[in-house]
Amino acid sequence: MPEAPEIASRSAEMNTALKNKVIESVEVSQPKCLNLSVEEFKAALVTGVIESVSYHGKWIMMNTSRGWLLLNLGMGGEILLVTRDSLPAKYRLVLDFTDKTCLTINFWWFGYAFHAKQEELFTIPMIARLGPNVLDLTQEDFKTLLENQKSKTRVKAFLLDQSKIAGIGNAYIHDILFLARLHPKRIVSSLSDAERTGLYNAIQGGLRPSLKKGGAFYETNLYGQKGGFSMEDILIGYKEGNACPNCGTPIEKIRTGSTSSFICPTCQPDPAF
Ligand SMILES: [Zn+2]
Repeated sequence: MPEAPEIASRSAEMNTALKNKVIESVEVSQPKCLNLSVEEFKAALVTGVIESVSYHGKWIMMNTSRGWLLLNLGMGGEILLVTRDSLPAKYRLVLDFTDKTCLTINFWWFGYAFHAKQEELFTIPMIARLGPNVLDLTQEDFKTLLENQKSKTRVKAFLLDQSKIAGIGNAYIHDILFLARLHPKRIVSSLSDAERTGLYNAIQGGLRPSLKKGGAFYETNLYGQKGGFSMEDILIGYKEGNACPNCGTPIEKIRTGSTSSFICPTCQPDPAF
């Protein structure tokens, strides 16, 4: 699933590559992913000029002269800049531009392609409920967010809650908590000042190396190339049984609520013991 490093990389590439392209036509092969009927969706976008591309959380936001085109790849997928002669095997949506290039969008499972008029962006509930982008958070913003948490919120649930902070998911959360030396079940309000600062730095340390490499190896860029952040770059996530890179203790996979977590039991002691 794409998270902040992949979405931020993709959005920056799209902002460079797509600016000033004019949408000539739109082809939709999965109408269920739209918030409008196919006809309304096409009518809303055709003749639109792409002015800029940005992102919020897991949404890529294309600002056009005819409103917003909002893309969410869901569990993953590809956005490719190609031509009609080099279309990929699978796609759910194609934007044809007047310069004869086209953008194909594929979701591996299910995603969204929404249109919103310029002033109606925040009437889309899935956008309106998002917290600030994780990569844009200052240390001060982050400390304020931590102070506003309910007394029983656990640190893993807090970091994954897109309405609190947008952009962290299951790929990067394990290394972030490991870098912060925090067990996923730690209660946010119990964190010391030093742990709060450490957690902020761990978020940066857990995401920015991947951002620098264009995102994770299982996602591709606009030109079909894989991201440079590989399994070797991951510290402990999905590496059950490997030695902790800090102390050598075998990494454990544990249940935390309805999901699994990967931890070093020595570096990230369980608060219950
Ligand atoms: Zn360790």
